[in-house]
Amino acid sequence: MDLDQADTLRLNRVQGFSPALLHAPSYELWRHLPGPTLFEIPGKHASPLFVSVLLHGNESTGWAAIQSVLNRHHGHLPRSLMLFVGNVDAARYTVRTLRSQTDYNRSWPGTLDDLTPEARVMREVVDAVRVQKPFGSIDIHNNSGHNPHYACVNRRDDRYVQLARLFSRTVVYFERPLGVQSAALSQLCPSVTVECGLAGGPEGVAHAADFIEAALAIDHLPDRPVPDGDLDLMQTHAIIKIPTGATVSFDGTDADFQFRSDLDRLNFSELEPGTLFGRLGSRRRHLLNIEPGGPHATSSDYFTYGDGEIRLCKRAIPAMLTRDNNAIRLDCLGYLMHRVARDGSRLVEADTAVMG
Ligand SMILES: [Zn+2]
Repeated sequence: MDLDQADTLRLNRVQGFSPALLHAPSYELWRHLPGPTLFEIPGKHASPLFVSVLLHGNESTGWAAIQSVLNRHHGHLPRSLMLFVGNVDAARYTVRTLRSQTDYNRSWPGTLDDLTPEARVMREVVDAVRVQKPFGSIDIHNNSGHNPHYACVNRRDDRYVQLARLFSRTVVYFERPLGVQSAALSQLCPSVTVECGLAGGPEGVAHAADFIEAALAIDHLPDRPVPDGDLDLMQTHAIIKIPTGATVSFDGTDADFQFRSDLDRLNFSELEPGTLFGRLGSRRRHLLNIEPGGPHATSSDYFTYGDGEIRLCKRAIPAMLTRDNNAIRLDCLGYLMHRVARDGSRLVEADTAVMG
């Protein structure tokens, strides 16, 4: 897509769903859809479930899951579905975002950059969903590192956590980055982002499809807490970024950051202070950028660099650590989390380890 097209980016709105799409792979959607498209598919229960897929063009699991659900129901859904198919142009090339675009999951109301064509489209989607008094919202993603499937929320209210728990016992509460779908929709209804592992994995598609099914079938979300033993709640406290222009390697070759080759295997494990992430390159030009994960997050340093070794200096649980250079450049190296209680107070990791 060139800049002229970006200037004319429009939301395509469709009543119902075309059978021709039921078997089209995500990279062929551009042949059927002129751009980002909002489908309104009627079901027995009028209050719709809102589902967004392909906000990142290379994360195909959500689209495959929706196809599976619609194929199963032959057009007779137990609840109305509003379906937003996001970055059709990036999906064509199986990339997260085209260079000419703003990230489709950083453009929702709440973003600091609300003058972009993408932000205008996302506002229009939110306005259209609001009118229909949505039951709940699900945004489906993949990630590029080794991660379990998990759900994310931007509010810790009971119905929000109940919706997340339908997907996974691992639930991450986060406040940054801004402009994400689940934060915008959390103003309207219980809202979650689900991370379904690597794109293309059949388990991720099956899991996401089962989750959509469950959310379509359930009459209401319980307004009571998920029992503590059924929930691993964590909060993002820091975002690890690589400074612009710095180089990265995972195989020991010379670079500003030479990370260990199994870095993404650390995801979702409770790391002790001193855990080695890698080494600084011989020139030692850069340190990691650690951004606070939100206004309530601790932003103090998480790493030491003695003898050029990059070591964690406090307990933390990493998520979404990736070895994918594109993901690192377009987004971040990963996140650092801590366990929290339902009220957001931090749990001491040593205690929760005993609780199991
Ligand atoms: Zn994504």
